[in-house]
Amino acid sequence: MASKNQIMLGTVPIGGGAPVAVQTMTKTETANLSATMAQIHTVAEAGADIVRVAVPREQDAEALKTIVAQSPIPVIADIHFNHTLALKAISAGAHCVRLNPGNIGGPEKVAEVTALAELTGTPLRVGVNSGSLPKHLRQLEYDNPVEALVTAAIETVELMESLNFKNFKVSMKSTSVPNTIASNRLLAERIPYPLHLGVTEAGTKWSGSLKSAVGLGTLLADGIGDTIRISLSTFHAEEEVKVAWEILKALKLREKGPVLIACPTCGRLQFDMDTVVAEVEQRLEAYDDPVEVSVLGCAVNGIGEARHADFGITGAKDMGMIYSKGEPLKKVPTEQLVDELFKEIDRYYAAGKTVERDEQAAAEARAWLAENEDDTQMTPERIAALEAAAAENDAAAEEVLEEMLEPVGSVTLDEDVSPVAGRRFNRG
Ligand code: SF4
Repeated sequence: MASKNQIMLGTVPIGGGAPVAVQTMTKTETANLSATMAQIHTVAEAGADIVRVAVPREQDAEALKTIVAQSPIPVIADIHFNHTLALKAISAGAHCVRLNPGNIGGPEKVAEVTALAELTGTPLRVGVNSGSLPKHLRQLEYDNPVEALVTAAIETVELMESLNFKNFKVSMKSTSVPNTIASNRLLAERIPYPLHLGVTEAGTKWSGSLKSAVGLGTLLADGIGDTIRISLSTFHAEEEVKVAWEILKALKLREKGPVLIACPTCGRLQFDMDTVVAEVEQRLEAYDDPVEVSVLGCAVNGIGEARHADFGITGAKDMGMIYSKGEPLKKVPTEQLVDELFKEIDRYYAAGKTVERDEQAAAEARAWLAENEDDTQMTPERIAALEAAAAENDAAAEEVLEEMLEPVGSVTLDEDVSPVAGRRFNRG
């Protein structure tokens, strides 16, 4: 369930139906202004909506004044253990302060922070980490870690409410993907506040991206989560931003830049598709528009699979073809495929997003396609399509059968006579 409440981090709305915001954290020493600002500009360019900086020392809180003034995107100050730093961060103009009330020195200290935050209109991010739950929840954590996380988060929310402070979002961090999913599902049902999602210490670029995609993707697909951060063990914070965007794009929650589709390849492949896909991906980074580009390893399937793609290429040993919306545009030597593809894309934009088709070239490409297409081959795509059609037929047959059985009521059927293979009837 999506959060009801909305808060504003500078100009960025969080929760209450706003687009899911992409967040990352700088990896620099915050007080190193040139390094921190350079990284903030890099992540903002990569598409971060919000950036968080660690504030473990006085000089970091001091540096915040300049960072907030110069940052192109809202800045969150990340504070642990020291409520004085939280007060300083608010005074420095941070757009939000992250703190875990459980480690900031008791409710009185939290009250001092919320009082100043209320005065300045600064939102807080409050939450809990699986690694540092309060002592009284240790046994529950052992017996039921999900319930322990949710209980700790609810206690934090109740503390905020008892202080008459409602300008906050909540996060529950766990290194476990199943616990992240289960706890956020429970919490989303119980509180109206926006949720920040992340799998803490997710890992390297490869494993961390996958863990985050599974954990956060599952929640986001349920409509849970208002801002996300992908935690990756890399100094390049922009990598976290790119992964976050891929997750949001895959779920069609937000659009940003081109969408690249590529077949998985198989034994029918006759050209170096690895290199081609990598080059296409890299060259697409220069485009902001959500143009969809498809790369098929061979034309055995025809190009119907890529009917929805704005542009695409497919190749054989020496020759390849460029197409648009499932229609051939021209055939070109394989080594020119990528260059010619981008010429077509640029022509499309120069013509105001109109595909300019040369009928002669298109006819040659169609002839090439007819030579290379083979609709008798069982390709991975055709097998998948057959399986999907079979599953659909199966479901439809079951539905018809259920309808037939309904008015009969007391009639029982032997499982073995089921006309729907592998299905068992509910005889109740
Ligand atoms: S049959 Fe499908 S998976 Fe195999 S190379 Fe051709 S398009 Fe790619």
